Amino acid sequence: MTIAHSNNDDLQALEESYKALTELGLDLDLTRGKPAPEQLALSDSLDGILQGNYRSDSGVDVRNYGELMGLFELRELFGELFDLHPNEVLVGGNSSLSLMYLALEYALQHSNNDGGVRRFLCPAPGYDRHFSVCERLDLEMISVPLNDNGPDMDVVESLLAEDGTICGIWCVPRFSNPTGCVYSDDTVARIARLPQHASGPFTVMWDNAYAVHALTPEAPALASISKAAREAGTLASVLQFGSTSKVTFAGAGVAFLGADADWLSGFAKHLSFRTIGPDKVNQLRHLRFLPDAQAIEAHMARQAALIKPKFEAVLQVLEKELAGQEFGQWTTPQGGYFISFDTLPGLAKDVVALAAAVGVKLTPAGATYPYGQDPTDSNIRLAPTYPCLEDVERCAQVFALCVKLATLRAAQN
Ligand code: PMP
Repeated sequence: MTIAHSNNDDLQALEESYKALTELGLDLDLTRGKPAPEQLALSDSLDGILQGNYRSDSGVDVRNYGELMGLFELRELFGELFDLHPNEVLVGGNSSLSLMYLALEYALQHSNNDGGVRRFLCPAPGYDRHFSVCERLDLEMISVPLNDNGPDMDVVESLLAEDGTICGIWCVPRFSNPTGCVYSDDTVARIARLPQHASGPFTVMWDNAYAVHALTPEAPALASISKAAREAGTLASVLQFGSTSKVTFAGAGVAFLGADADWLSGFAKHLSFRTIGPDKVNQLRHLRFLPDAQAIEAHMARQAALIKPKFEAVLQVLEKELAGQEFGQWTTPQGGYFISFDTLPGLAKDVVALAAAVGVKLTPAGATYPYGQDPTDSNIRLAPTYPCLEDVERCAQVFALCVKLATLRAAQN
């Protein structure tokens, strides 16, 4: 099945192409950034990999209780990847989002707040679940523009200088969700110094969810926040997160938290009230499957080989159908899970509604901004990893048609 596409951008012809779409009975979904089944299958050998050997190299029987901070060898491996000492790494659970929630809640509880309003900086467009965490923890969100090099640091620094209630910032520093930008070295250095500018406790939430998720070997590297924060004396204010959700199994991976050793032992104490220890069997499985940085790199190259064609398919359709600026603009990410599209102002909701009406689900317009409110109603996040290549292509064609139609309809009014 191919989707009829008008070659000229005449409104009448577009309306007809769109009407034809309604008759196709499509049921496609380009919403959440989930790995496709064949990506998950790359890690199927996790199952059974222990072959009855439940002892780690350091002699821990992983079937038993204990090791609240996680398996030492895995803390060592994450430490090596992110320039942290094993004492500065906790590995626990399958979800970094869960560690983020707990760690931020703990940091806020221990920050001698007088009960007044607390504000949090949210580079936007950004990840909707970070914003939900803020809402849940009663943090008022302040949007900060996200540029190609990361958050606009002039804005961040001047906001901090004038507002003493700001107590932290969210960062997705490599292949950000949704724009795919990689923070520049200068941005990383300036973020590491932020706690020095704040008048009270300040937490950098460094969500490195896509740390090793390059689509090409040429993708830019990320400067080490551990090194920069150590130099600036701010390591105790920088909390680093990541997981193997998009490396191995999204629902059964391992997650880590990197932080100053003293901070982390206080947090581990706090954690000890809710658990005796994490699932070390899964941690050992991961260690056997991905024992070192080279193994991770080789595995991620296999992931990239599966998803790169899907990104290329979307970008080709956008280029062919919407090139030039008159229909909006979009990012060409070198890694991560998303493409970020900006329609002309005021049209994102219309585009999402048009696509939904013909059976193509897109992430709700506004989701990429705090409180679900995109001030210019223009940003749409496209997540091409989950559907098969053919469906990704169809989604992109429907999307392009909806963008054109919404734009031309608006121009007529
Ligand atoms: N952070 C970001 C930026 C993400 O995009 C995602 C997944 N969509 C997560 C965190 C969730 O990570 P986890 O599965 O480890 O909870």
